[in-house]
Amino acid sequence: MAGALALVLPIAISALGSAGVPLRPLGGEVAGAAAVAGAQTSPLPVQAWINPASVPARPTDADGPRTMAERIPPAPASLTGYQWPIKAGRVTLPFKAIPGGSRIKDGKLFHDGLDMASFCGAPVGAAHAGIVLAAGRTFDDHVGWIGDLGPYYALLDTKRMWSQLPNVVVIDDGNEYRSVYAHFRDVTVKVGQRVEAGQLIGHEGATGHASGCHVHYGLFSPLDTKTFGVRPNILRALKLPKLQIARIDPLLVLPGGEVALKTRNIAKAIKFAAAESATRAASTAEAASTGSTAGR
Ligand SMILES: [Zn+2]
Repeated sequence: MAGALALVLPIAISALGSAGVPLRPLGGEVAGAAAVAGAQTSPLPVQAWINPASVPARPTDADGPRTMAERIPPAPASLTGYQWPIKAGRVTLPFKAIPGGSRIKDGKLFHDGLDMASFCGAPVGAAHAGIVLAAGRTFDDHVGWIGDLGPYYALLDTKRMWSQLPNVVVIDDGNEYRSVYAHFRDVTVKVGQRVEAGQLIGHEGATGHASGCHVHYGLFSPLDTKTFGVRPNILRALKLPKLQIARIDPLLVLPGGEVALKTRNIAKAIKFAAAESATRAASTAEAASTGSTAGR
């Protein structure tokens, strides 16, 4: 997670490199690499509108055809249907600037997701319903890299580094955002599968660069035009693209996010959010019954 990447040892896993399997790894943090792909891997439309040069100018006619430039991600505050991937345990590292961060935001090293931990092997559920885009170690084409992943993949093949990557699940949440979950011991979903919020997608582990079992949860919109950089030594070591699509703070969408930030206690955050929504429901019901009694 937060840290560094695993480049250290080219470990050997012969099978992978030779099979001619389409590879896609990741890089640093959690995901280390996720990626939006560049030219040669998969045809990701994402890039097209990320590159300002390819974005058509906005038409002056308000009724004119909408351009890609007008596609903007929904505001985080409008996102609904999210739940915690693990129901107990602790927030071990928030989405914030940290000395060892693998990404760069506003000129500072940054941790681009939310780390949470309970125990090794704990079941991890989808934070939101959606369609699985990646499951396992070939996920970089789906995590918002901006640029060509070819050199990175070639390096992984040559140095047989695929096994050093974390097990990752990427899900299209169906709301113009993607959820990225990393470091699984094992994943239990397949690409193309539809999952419901809370459905088991894998078990907590420490694959990739991780100091212990945890889940790194990242959230971004392929429509976002903001970007994060990557720590220079990681770029050099892994030949990754220089930019990735900016992430948002998952605590903006997870229930009781502010409580989790303060207490670091996931169960408390969930309980707080449940109590809050029960209170809200009760007052709504009361208002409704008061209002409707008159008519009956
Ligand atoms: Zn992390």
